[in-house]
Amino acid sequence: MLGSFSVGKSSLMRRFVSTIFDDKYLTTIGVKIEKKVVQAAGQDVSLVIWDIHGDDMYQRIPMNYLRGMMGYLLVIDGTRRQTLIDALSLAETVTKEIGRVPALLVLNKSDLADQWEIDDGQQAKLVKDGWIVLKTSAKTAEGVEKAYMQLAEAMIAAG
Ligand code: GDP
Ligand code: MG
Repeated sequence: MLGSFSVGKSSLMRRFVSTIFDDKYLTTIGVKIEKKVVQAAGQDVSLVIWDIHGDDMYQRIPMNYLRGMMGYLLVIDGTRRQTLIDALSLAETVTKEIGRVPALLVLNKSDLADQWEIDDGQQAKLVKDGWIVLKTSAKTAEGVEKAYMQLAEAMIAAG
């Protein structure tokens, strides 16, 4: 899970993964790791999802967080345009550090439509730039399952 502070990374993960392991895997490196087995591309896929605790990622992504990462959800708060700008620069850093891996751009908080700051034109441009763009709401669950499943499929396709 990548993205600025408070965009909804932890909420999306909590929504997707059953919460029976809640906080159990919060390690000393400040990362919460959850696992969920899904069916994707006709096989069992074990998704191991990493979520940084708190807001330390905004300053600097720890390398041990990125190492071995097979793909990521780049999460944006649709009500805060700045989180899109920050996310795109974060994605550049990631590519520089570990190369290209499958990624999905997730516009979260779709339930707050009246406060939305990212219009259709901007979304079209992101798609044109090669991003797979999805709208989600961790609150209503809209699009959440789909985001993780689509990432799983993209990671399998990438081998
Ligand atoms: P993180 O810092 O990226 O992990 O963000 P959090 O998951 O902690 O969420 C930050 C705040 O946004 C919390 O108050 C959440 O309840 C709220 N939030 C997260 N996702 C959504 C959403 O889809 N809709 C709404 N309305 N609020 C959300
Ligand atoms: Mg969080």
